[in-house]
Amino acid sequence: RSRSDDDYDLLMKVVLIGDSGVGKTNCLSRFCRNEFQTNSKPTIGVEFATKQLTMGNGDLVKCQIWDTAGQERYRAITNAYYRGAVGALLVYDVTRRKTFESIERWLRELREHASADMVVMLVGNKTDLETQREVSVQDGQDIAKREGLLFLETSALDGSNVEEAFTRVATEIHGIVR
Ligand code: GDP
Repeated sequence: RSRSDDDYDLLMKVVLIGDSGVGKTNCLSRFCRNEFQTNSKPTIGVEFATKQLTMGNGDLVKCQIWDTAGQERYRAITNAYYRGAVGALLVYDVTRRKTFESIERWLRELREHASADMVVMLVGNKTDLETQREVSVQDGQDIAKREGLLFLETSALDGSNVEEAFTRVATEIHGIVR
């Protein structure tokens, strides 16, 4: 049957976190609109986009994905950003070691503000820049295993694994809720 925009079985809020410049906004625009922007837009204020996904059992899930829109620069992510979130994509840049080293800090912040049973996917973005890589796949896998996170490497530029990252989080949450 055809369904209207508001006819879904489950609404889930998913937040994007991680250092500035790692590609959060571009992962979101790649997933929701299949777009990529070479120039970064330092918009201030929270923005979100939605995307509907059909689960294996036919359930229609509406994902509301929130982007920090630059707040992380000022360490000013507020409670409201995390409120009600059931999933998170914690993004780092595989070409900037520093952004990988921030993961522990982001996890502490998540544990302070978010619910303990939130589904968290660690995302190593910018795999298209292979020659500039500063973080190995193994490094990402190790920390994900230690911290109990899902893990994928992505490229918002060429699109690889972006849909998989969001879909896996949504599928995991759907499996818990249903
Ligand atoms: P945010 O601050 O985390 O939201 O990062 P943006 O999405 O604004 O991206 C920061 C910069 O990295 C921009 O210049 C993007 O074009 C670039 N960028 C984002 N994702 C990728 C990617 O997968 N590959 C490459 N090569 N550049 C990317």
